[in-house]
Amino acid sequence: MDIILYLLTIIQYLYQLNCWLLNFICRYIPLKQWAFDDSHSPKYQKYKIDELPLITDFRQDWTYKELIPYFHKRYGKKICPIKRQSECDIPEECSCPRCQAPKPYLYKNNGSKGQLSCKVCDAKFSQQDNRFSAIKLRCPHCGNTLVPKKDRKFFVLHKCVNPKCPYYLHNLKKVEPEHLNEAYGKNKYKLHYIYREFTVDFFRMDLNSLPKNASSLKFSRHNAHVMGLCLTLHVNLGLSLRKTSQALKDLYNIRISHQQVANYARTAALVIKPFVDNYEYKTGTTFIADETYIKVRGIKGYIWFIMDAVSRSILGYQVSDNRGVGPCILAMRMAFRKLKQ
Ligand SMILES: [Zn+2]
Ligand SMILES: [Zn+2]
Repeated sequence: MDIILYLLTIIQYLYQLNCWLLNFICRYIPLKQWAFDDSHSPKYQKYKIDELPLITDFRQDWTYKELIPYFHKRYGKKICPIKRQSECDIPEECSCPRCQAPKPYLYKNNGSKGQLSCKVCDAKFSQQDNRFSAIKLRCPHCGNTLVPKKDRKFFVLHKCVNPKCPYYLHNLKKVEPEHLNEAYGKNKYKLHYIYREFTVDFFRMDLNSLPKNASSLKFSRHNAHVMGLCLTLHVNLGLSLRKTSQALKDLYNIRISHQQVANYARTAALVIKPFVDNYEYKTGTTFIADETYIKVRGIKGYIWFIMDAVSRSILGYQVSDNRGVGPCILAMRMAFRKLKQ
């Protein structure tokens, strides 16, 4: 009798050990099939995102009309128009780009070289380029002004072209010299500091960044309430696309095609995905997992769900084209991330 009890204790102990090891593997051991040995290679620097640039804003609200009385009151110094010895060839319409002071307050700073100076705010400027009306971007590593290199559809690419920039020299050192000497060798690597200034408003839904047929949420024929009804019937009540379309017509006399319902559902799914993924679900002590397969455009795929046993909230999920261990463990990791220490 004693030996059975003893063996049972051993089995329980081993089982505990197994659970502990499995937990350890899921959390800490990197997976071979997902981790690439050369992911630190300079070739992959292309995917690296640089830190934000330094921004110098030259725009200011005060004009010479406020500045002259202010200086008078603050320092007891009255700024008067310049008394000129000789004829001045500064154009009549020229004014200070920083404080808008007109010609009587402007003088030539360096003779005939073309730089003008403002007597009111002490700004030095040339008549051609008006840097005071704009924002200047500078490299956070060397302080040089970034040069706008490429004007793409949704962003402007600014680059630090300083050949002595410490960031550039640091990246250059990491690349093998023979790779640099190949044709267009330098272009294969991301060596310079780069900043993408996005010109697209992320808070406006943009059709180009959404899959085909997604709604722009600008609503020309219907409105947000109709979209809400579509989602309630199709998602919450589980009606098919055609039944949803039929129900809307029968119940509310709203004519909407089943394709439009599908478009709304797809758009909503895309918009709420980041919120769902990052939502802080309350987690219990027991998790359950399920594996099933789905067809995506006719191709069979596998999907894993990790759920809280009580609340049934989905804590982790993963879609994959194979039934390997990797995607399964990734789903578990996603769920474990939501656990508090
Ligand atoms: Zn000025
Ligand atoms: Zn730089």
